[in-house]
Amino acid sequence: MADCIFCKIINKEIPADIVYEDEEGIAFRDIEPKARVHFLIVPKKHVLSADRLEACDKELIGSLVLVAQRIAKEQGVSETGYRLIFNVGRDAGQTVDHLHLHLLGGEKLPFA
Ligand code: AMP
Repeated sequence: MADCIFCKIINKEIPADIVYEDEEGIAFRDIEPKARVHFLIVPKKHVLSADRLEACDKELIGSLVLVAQRIAKEQGVSETGYRLIFNVGRDAGQTVDHLHLHLLGGEKLPFA
């Protein structure tokens, strides 16, 4: 998608602090972190949101969680805990229309 900011990061058209990449997805530091540790795990496939996932995306969604688990370990929050969030649509605060999983941690998080 030409005007999608996360597609631009995936295509290396704009910079990001990328910490992981494989054939299916990419993970980078959130530019406006809402916690000490805040990363986004993003599939390379342009899916608008979790609401648009289909049965054929089962593996893709699983791999996002496994990448999150790996980053949590690398960032030292596996033991202390972390939160994984998909914001879906405007009422949930989704601002980028390309599916992404937030990984937040590194401090006591407010109840969500
Ligand atoms: P959401 O509100 O769930 O759509 O989350 C979008 C997230 O993307 C926000 O936390 C933003 O801070 C983050 N974000 C937007 N643009 C960039 C960017 N260029 N690099 C890294 N993170 C970004």
